[in-house]
Amino acid sequence: MKRFFEGLWEHSALNEPKPMLYKKLKDHRFFTANVFLFGGFLGVILWIWDYITDPEGAHETIGYRLFFLILITGFIVIRKTKNPYLLAWVSLFLVLITLTDYIMILTHLHDGMLYGIAGFMFYMLLPPIAFQAFPLWINIVSILLIAAFPQLLAWAEVIQGFQQANYAVLIWPAAFIAIVIQYFYALEYHHRYHLEKTLEKLSYTDMLSGLYNRRYFIETFNYMLSRTKLSKLPLILMIGDIDRFKSINDKYGHPAGDEAIKTISSLIREKVGAQGIAARIGGEEFGILLPDTDVEKALKIAEEIRASIAEQVITLPADIHFSCTISIGMAVSKRESTVSTLFKEADQSLYEVKHTGRNSVGKIAT
Ligand code: GH3
Ligand code: MG
Ligand code: MG
Repeated sequence: MKRFFEGLWEHSALNEPKPMLYKKLKDHRFFTANVFLFGGFLGVILWIWDYITDPEGAHETIGYRLFFLILITGFIVIRKTKNPYLLAWVSLFLVLITLTDYIMILTHLHDGMLYGIAGFMFYMLLPPIAFQAFPLWINIVSILLIAAFPQLLAWAEVIQGFQQANYAVLIWPAAFIAIVIQYFYALEYHHRYHLEKTLEKLSYTDMLSGLYNRRYFIETFNYMLSRTKLSKLPLILMIGDIDRFKSINDKYGHPAGDEAIKTISSLIREKVGAQGIAARIGGEEFGILLPDTDVEKALKIAEEIRASIAEQVITLPADIHFSCTISIGMAVSKRESTVSTLFKEADQSLYEVKHTGRNSVGKIAT
């Protein structure tokens, strides 16, 4: 039952639908825009049909037919506008305008209302085909409104000779089907969206530690370094390597080593916080990037990381307690720095720490 309603909830304004709605719009924009474009041309070309049913009346409809080209506005707006709500209402408005235009065409043709009644079916196709980019609830409102619109015009006596019964028999079952299609499509989209999000997260996450993975780290490093040229303060790179980790594996077993990696990772994440990013870039090696950060602050963070790890006691179910230390190498970006020169400098800094007793923070090459 929950699954049945998920599609609707996801689209309700209360349930923070924003990121999904924007993605939905992005995913369908190209298609929706082109349906509007070709719908405009189709509306004009169907003048041939007017000519077949009523050659004389057809001359009076050419202006109305050309009016269908207003859908090109929709094509342009849909290609550019970012707001899914605004776009949905603009699109609905355009569709209702052309629907009125279509009714005007039928009133100009002899027996137009009789022959043209099937043409309303095109309008029922529109929401499930072209409105996929928009929120589900707007889709449903659109279907109902588009279906009811000609009847409202007839009741208000704006149009004469409207075949109410024929229209209703044709349109309302179609409207019902359109709503069902739209609903299940939205539900499927909802599931696909969450699947994509999960896959996306997997693609940049290291499974054991929950930190970013190496691939994401290198990508972000390149990006941050290019941004650093625009900022006053440098980019700091730290490489942390757990000390004598092999002996922990040997003494307590590989699962204990994994447990240590997890604990140390969460300490690193906590200390880095929103100031930068932390990744597991090797077996027991961590990379940290602090953009726009001065050296003093970076040294302070590095020291906090080192101290918190040294103080942490790792407890395993079999009443095993042990602790680890980490050595941290540092590098600071200069004008001519590249990702590989910074890695080299941080590695050198780490190497020096490893050879002068471990459990400390390395010097920064200047
Ligand atoms: P050093 O202080 O010089 O860094 O000594 P070390 O023993 O840590 O040396 P090194 O960094 O070369 O050792 C890495 C070891 O980490 C080798 C491997 O057994 C272990 N290791 C790498 N990845 C994992 C992992 O995912 N889980 C576990 N449990 N161990 C790992
Ligand atoms: Mg190592
Ligand atoms: Mg090590």
